[in-house]
Amino acid sequence: MDVPIKLLSTDFDGTLYADFENPPVPLCLQSLIRGLQSRGAKWVINTGRALPDLLLALEQAELGVEPDYLVVVEREIYRRHGDKYVEARAWNESCRREHTQLFERITPDLSRIQQWIRARFDARVYADAYSPVCLQSRSNEDTDAIVEFLEEYCRSVTNLTVVRNDVYARFSHVNYNKGSALGEIARQLRIGPDGVLAAGDHWNDLPMLSQEFARWLVAPDNAIEAVKKRVRQQQGYVSGQPHGYGVARGVEFFLEFNHYPLSDLG
Ligand SMILES: [Mg+2]
Repeated sequence: MDVPIKLLSTDFDGTLYADFENPPVPLCLQSLIRGLQSRGAKWVINTGRALPDLLLALEQAELGVEPDYLVVVEREIYRRHGDKYVEARAWNESCRREHTQLFERITPDLSRIQQWIRARFDARVYADAYSPVCLQSRSNEDTDAIVEFLEEYCRSVTNLTVVRNDVYARFSHVNYNKGSALGEIARQLRIGPDGVLAAGDHWNDLPMLSQEFARWLVAPDNAIEAVKKRVRQQQGYVSGQPHGYGVARGVEFFLEFNHYPLSDLG
């Protein structure tokens, strides 16, 4: 029997990985992923982390299973080739080019935006290689207010959006996010949304927690309410268990839903 989940996309922090747990990725989830891979499925870690940071965390997690793809900074794609990850060059180059062009257009406004935030909030505002405005604020309430201001600004700039994860936020191009990156990987693998499962816990996961990209949606118990709501609205699975345990229950639920015997995963 063909395995119904052909592509599995998991967010990293809070969904797959909990650094206060030992091991940080539960063995039951590692075993399910290994079983899916042995049946030809591919696994992508879809994260807001940058590549070096993610690779370090993966090494420290001592996983017994390796992702086939990485999506980093919510937008760049890397594919495993032996023991290395090589970039999906066409996608990543267009992604970088479109971001450069977009960010050039907003350069005249940057100091005004930074000053607005600094005058009102005790927040860290800085630029990095991925966004000319990055935010780390003191609380979710502060982030709510600052993101509202940034979103208002985005309405005046075509293709500009804000990506938020907890108290962090940055600018991004609307066409590049966890959802479109997952869609690109699925396109390369010739897998339709009916063969894709996506699991996430926070704001930046919402673009991939969509039936446009994944028929099977999972949120762990620790997911924010907006994520749980979106997952429920699309007949997804919201687990009563946290992070990796919740993802494992979601994978099992949808395999059983599709009458796929768990014993077939070995
Ligand atoms: Mg997360």
